Amino acid sequence: MTERPPILSISARELEAWLSSRDVPTYRRKQLWGWLARGAASFDDMRDIPKPLRAELDHEFRITSLRPVAVSQADRGLTTKTLYELDGGHSVEAVVMRYADRSTLCISSQAGCPIGCPFCATGKFPFGRNLKSHEIVEQALDAARMLPAEGRRLSHVVFMGMGEPMANYQAVVESVRRISDPELLAISPRRVVISTSGLIPRIDQLGQEKLAVTLAISLHAARDDLRDVLVPINRKYPVADLVASAQSYADRTSRRVSYEWVLLAGVNDTERDAAELGRLLRGKLAHVNLIPFNPVDDTPYRAPDRGGVRRFRQLVEAQGLNVTVRDTRGREADAACGQLHERVMRERSAVTAS
Ligand code: SAH
Ligand code: SF4
Repeated sequence: MTERPPILSISARELEAWLSSRDVPTYRRKQLWGWLARGAASFDDMRDIPKPLRAELDHEFRITSLRPVAVSQADRGLTTKTLYELDGGHSVEAVVMRYADRSTLCISSQAGCPIGCPFCATGKFPFGRNLKSHEIVEQALDAARMLPAEGRRLSHVVFMGMGEPMANYQAVVESVRRISDPELLAISPRRVVISTSGLIPRIDQLGQEKLAVTLAISLHAARDDLRDVLVPINRKYPVADLVASAQSYADRTSRRVSYEWVLLAGVNDTERDAAELGRLLRGKLAHVNLIPFNPVDDTPYRAPDRGGVRRFRQLVEAQGLNVTVRDTRGREADAACGQLHERVMRERSAVTAS
């Protein structure tokens, strides 16, 4: 038996056509989306939709395609990480991070990642597949389901989970349109961050979309020979071209670009690195985010100690750049992208082996 399609795998128009074919007024579609956005866990929860229609919806569709298979908490409950199994068996993770003034969801766009950065847990597994746009939106709907019980609302979404969003361009753009749709999650595109290792043609295309999402570039090195190693796509799209493309995105959208810099002790945290970064970004509408490395097994890297992080921040500041150190949310929750997935895969293979 084939599974029922998830309700968000069809467009608004297709759902309205389905309703019309059953002599149901099309405004029910808007009502249904409203329930999804408010975190309904089943069609039966949709109280102002007539019961027979709820039953029919349940017969034809699933509310989500995601099956949570592992959850871990950290930071005294402020961080929740969920691993979801997708149709077909791959799995991805999403992380809810609660702050005083916002609730941010870190979302996955691919099962695995084809880019293969050597410090990243996601890059260690063979690439699985692109997520469909509904699978991306469903991660956000699940967070929207979890937060209201705590008096919170999902306010920000960052594409910093598993995968390279610009390598799954159409589905990612479609998912952002739904996440920001006032009839669905209504999160302003400004509060959506797309983080990329630097696929220049897609960054340029994104600039044409009239979406004005915030762009984050995973830079990690300001010179090509080092970035060729840390972010292998650099061999195709070198640093200077990447920054030029990001700047034209900034000019077009008036959005400040974030540059991410994973701090790897002795590798990219020296005076030379800060000076090169200064030369690259000085005078640009840019912000540098330093991310202390989250240790990943079987990599040759380690995080600098606190003093090392402070010293590098000061070196970058001295270059006249805006810089912040990202807090290391969720360290105990297998924090950085791909790490919960990695632990579950390890445990699974241990179970299979025993
Ligand atoms: N593929 C995209 C988005 C997902 S990764 C990208 O690379 O931008 C999101 C961020 O987490 C990136 O800046 C990435 O470099 C960083 N990251 C990956 N592994 C990490 C680790 N072990 N510790 C800290 N940050 C890491
Ligand atoms: Fe992929 Fe980003 Fe990890 Fe690099 S850092 S392997 S681009 S998910």
